Amino acid sequence: MEFRTRFAPSPTGFMHLGGLRTALYEYLLARKNGGKFILRIEDTDQERFVEGATQVIYDTLRDCGINWDEGPDIGGDYGPYIQSERKDLYLPYAKQLVESGHAYYCFCTKEELDQRRQAAEARGETFKYDKHCLRLSKEEIAEKLAAGTPYVIRMNAPTEGTSSYHDMVFGDMTFPNSDTMDDMVLIKQDGMPTYNFANVIDDHLMHISHVIRGMEYLSSTPRYNFLYNAFGWEIPQYIHLPTVMRDATHKLSKRDGDAYYSDFIEKGYLKEALINYLALVGWNPGDEREFFTLGELEEVFDVSRLNKSPGIFDIDKLTWFNAEYIRKLPFDAYLEMVTPWFDKALAGKNIDYKRLAELMQSRTEVFGRVPDMVRFLAEMPEYDLDLYNNKKMKTNPEVAAESLALVRPVLEGIGDWNETAIHDTVMSAIAESGKKNGAVLWPLRIAISGLASTPGGAFEIAYLLGKNETMRRLDLSMEKLRNNA
Ligand code: GLU
Repeated sequence: MEFRTRFAPSPTGFMHLGGLRTALYEYLLARKNGGKFILRIEDTDQERFVEGATQVIYDTLRDCGINWDEGPDIGGDYGPYIQSERKDLYLPYAKQLVESGHAYYCFCTKEELDQRRQAAEARGETFKYDKHCLRLSKEEIAEKLAAGTPYVIRMNAPTEGTSSYHDMVFGDMTFPNSDTMDDMVLIKQDGMPTYNFANVIDDHLMHISHVIRGMEYLSSTPRYNFLYNAFGWEIPQYIHLPTVMRDATHKLSKRDGDAYYSDFIEKGYLKEALINYLALVGWNPGDEREFFTLGELEEVFDVSRLNKSPGIFDIDKLTWFNAEYIRKLPFDAYLEMVTPWFDKALAGKNIDYKRLAELMQSRTEVFGRVPDMVRFLAEMPEYDLDLYNNKKMKTNPEVAAESLALVRPVLEGIGDWNETAIHDTVMSAIAESGKKNGAVLWPLRIAISGLASTPGGAFEIAYLLGKNETMRRLDLSMEKLRNNA
C-alpha cells in the first residue's frame, strides 16, 4: 500500500500552530514511509473565504520545508486540489447515494427549519433534522425539482445502534448513532458540497491512506464511515491529534498572540526551532533526544509515539530551543539575521554591528528582544544611583565617583579608540591606583550604559559608543553623582 497523506486546510487567513503541526505530521508520515504528501485547499465555505489566505498556506509550508508532492499550484494525478474547482464532481456522488437510499433531497426552507428548531428547544431538546423530506414521494420530489425548488441533499443517517472504528492514537472508538449521527447536509443549496461530504469524496478520489486531523473530528468520523460504507469504499486509517494547548486549560489564542505561525516569526523565532519544538508537542522520539532537523524527523517519525493527552505548547520551552538554535548559527548568518533587529533601535547610530553581534549572539533568545537589549547604545537610559551599590564589587556612589574621576582623564587621553587601547589604558591606570578592578569597571560600565546588565563589559561598551559619546555619558554620570553627594 502506498502511504498517501494530505493536509486539507480551510483558507481562513492565518496558519494556526495546531494546523501547522498537523501538516508536519502528515508530511513526516508520508516521507518516513516513502509515500506522498498532498495539499488540498478546502474552500467550499465561501462565507469564510479570506482573500490571500491560500498564499499564506503555501508560503508558510514552503518556509518550513514542508513541501507537497501534489497540490493546487503544482498539480498531480488527482486534481484539481482546490475544492471550489471540484464543485461539479460532488453532485453525481450525492445523487448516487440518493439512488441507493443513503441520502435524500430536502426542500425545507430556512424559516421552516428555524421554527422546528425553536419548537424543539422549547421542549428542551436539541434539534436534529427530523427526516421530514424523507417522507416525500418520488412524484413530489420530481415535481419540486422540475419547478426549480431550492434543495439540499441530506444523508439518511441511522438513528439507532452504534458505530465503531479504530484510531491509531485513541484506539478503538465506539459511538451511539443517536448521539453522533444526524442527517447532515451533503450538498448545499448553492450546489457546493459541505466539508462533511467533500472530505470523504476527495480523500477517496485522491487515494488518501491516512487521515490526520484534530480530535474535534473524532465523533464525526462515524458519519464519514457511513458514507464510505454506503459507496462501498475503503475507509482510510485515522490518526486524530489532541489539541495544542498553551497550558492545561487554555488553547492557543489569537488574542494572546500565540496562535499563529506568523506571530512567532514576527517575534523573531527561527522557523527551524519552531518546527523542531512543534514536532515534540504531542510526539516523542522514544529517547532523550530533543534536537531534530526536518530531515532527521523524516527518518525517526513514528505514529505509535503520538500522545493521546493534549500537547502543551510551552513558550518558555520554545524560547529555550530558539536560543539554542541561535547559539549554533554560524556567526555570519547570525549577523545577517540580527542586523534588521539592531536597526530597529540603532539605525543611523554608526555602531559596529559586527562587534555588537559577537557580544549578543550567546545572549539572544528571541530576535524580537534584541532592540530593547541594545537600545541603551542609542540613548542613555535614566538610571538610579542605587545601581552603583554592589556588595560583591564593593562599590557605592562614593566609590563610583572616585573611580570615574580616576578613569576620565585616562580615557580622554586615548587617541586611537579601539577596544585593546581602552582595555590596556584603563587596566594600567587601575593597577597604578591600587584599586580593585571591579571597583572601577563596575561603576564605569554603569556610568556609560545606565544598566545593571549589558552585553559586554565597560571596554566593549565604551568602544561601541565611540569616544565622544563615552565621554559625554561619563560627564553626565559624574555630574549626577556630584549632585547627589
Ligand atoms: N478543512 C478542515 C479543517 O481545516 C480539514 C479537516 C481535515 O483534515 O479533514 O479543519
